[in-house]
Amino acid sequence: MSSFWRLERLLPEYVKNFEAYTPSKPDTELMKLYGCSTLHRLNNNENPLGPSVEAQNAISSFSPEKAAIYPSGDSYCLRVRLAEKFTKNPEQFLVGNGANEVITFVIKAFCEQGDNIVTADKTFAVYEWVANFSGYQAKLAPLSNFEFDEQAMLDLVDKKTKIVFICNPNNPTGKFWSIDRLRAFMNRLGDEKIVVLDEAYAEFVEDETFPNGLDLIEEYDNLVVFRTFSKMYGLAGLRIGYLCAQEPLVDSIRKTCVVYSVNSLAQLAARASLGSELHVHETRSLVDSSKSYFTKQLSRLELSCIYGEGNFMMVRLPISDTLAYRKLMTQGFMVRTMSGFRFPGYIRVSMSHQIVMEKLVEAIERILK
Ligand SMILES: *Cc1c(COP(=O)(O)O)cnc(C)c1O
Repeated sequence: MSSFWRLERLLPEYVKNFEAYTPSKPDTELMKLYGCSTLHRLNNNENPLGPSVEAQNAISSFSPEKAAIYPSGDSYCLRVRLAEKFTKNPEQFLVGNGANEVITFVIKAFCEQGDNIVTADKTFAVYEWVANFSGYQAKLAPLSNFEFDEQAMLDLVDKKTKIVFICNPNNPTGKFWSIDRLRAFMNRLGDEKIVVLDEAYAEFVEDETFPNGLDLIEEYDNLVVFRTFSKMYGLAGLRIGYLCAQEPLVDSIRKTCVVYSVNSLAQLAARASLGSELHVHETRSLVDSSKSYFTKQLSRLELSCIYGEGNFMMVRLPISDTLAYRKLMTQGFMVRTMSGFRFPGYIRVSMSHQIVMEKLVEAIERILK
C-alpha cells in the first residue's frame, strides 16, 4: 500500500504494520511459472487419501438446489453427532469455518485493549497473527528441545494475559506434551487464564501418553480444545473445525461468532467423517510408512530432520529454505518454507503416497547436486 493513500490514516497502527499472508497461486499458474508438468502440494499437511468414503458419499448426495438455502446457523446436526461420539452435550461444541476461524472466536471473546496471549515462538502462526492484527500482543516463549517449554511460558504470563495457546502435537516439530506434563502445567498456571489446546493432529497420534484433550474438559473449566476436519478427515477445502469446552465457556465464546460461516456441505461431510474408523486407520498406516521411508532416505543423504507425531516432517537443508522452495517447485514439489516459523534453513514436508515420497527424494538429491 502506498504511503500517500488518503484513507490510510483510518487504519490502526497494528493493522498498518501487519504483513498480509500471501496465499499460493493456483496450480496451473504455478506450473507455468516454474515450468513443471505436475505439482505435488506437500505444503499444507493435507490428507493424500482425500476425504473418507463416508464423506465422499455425503458430498455426492448433496442436492445442488440446497445451495440456495442457508445452512444450519449453529451446525446443529454435526454438534449432536460430536456429542454422541465424545459423550458430551451438543452445547459444548462450537463449529467454525476451519479451526482458523475458531481461533479468532476465542481471541475476540476474551481480549481487549492492552491484553496479551502467550504461546511458543515456533508453532502454528495463526494464534500470533490474529492477536497482532487485532491489536493484542503475542508473547512468545522459545521452544526447548523442539517442545513447548512450560517454565518459559509461565514466565511470560502476566496480569494482562488472557489466553495461553498450546499446539499439541506441535506444528511444525511434531512434539507433544504427555498427559502428566499437561496436567502439571494446568495446575501450575491455575484457573485464572484460558488455555487453548490445539489438537489439529490428535487423530494421527498413536502414543498412549498423549492426552486426549476432550477427556480433560470436565476437569478444567478454563480449557478449550480445538479440532479440525482439514487434516485427518481430508476436508481442508470445505473449511470446517470446532472447539469444545465446558458450557459456560462455550456460551461466552459463542457471542463473538458470526452465524452462517459454516456451509451446509461442510457440515454434512464432517458429520459423515466422524464414523470413518477405516479411513483413520489407513491414513495412519500411510503416514507411518512414508515417515519411515523418508527418514531412512534423509539419513542416507546425510540430511537432518525434526519430526514426531502428525503427518509432516521438517528437513534441514544446506541451502536457504526459500531457494530450496523455488528449486523444488521446478521439480514439481511444493513444500513449506520454515523461515516464517522461525526455523530458517528448514522445509516442512507433508507425508504422501510412497511413490510421491520416492520422487521427492530424487528431486531433493537433484537440487542439492
Ligand atoms: C491446519 C491447522 C489448523 C487449522 O485448520 P483449519 O481447520 O484448516 O483452519 C489449526 N491448527 C493447526 C496446528 C494446524 O496445523
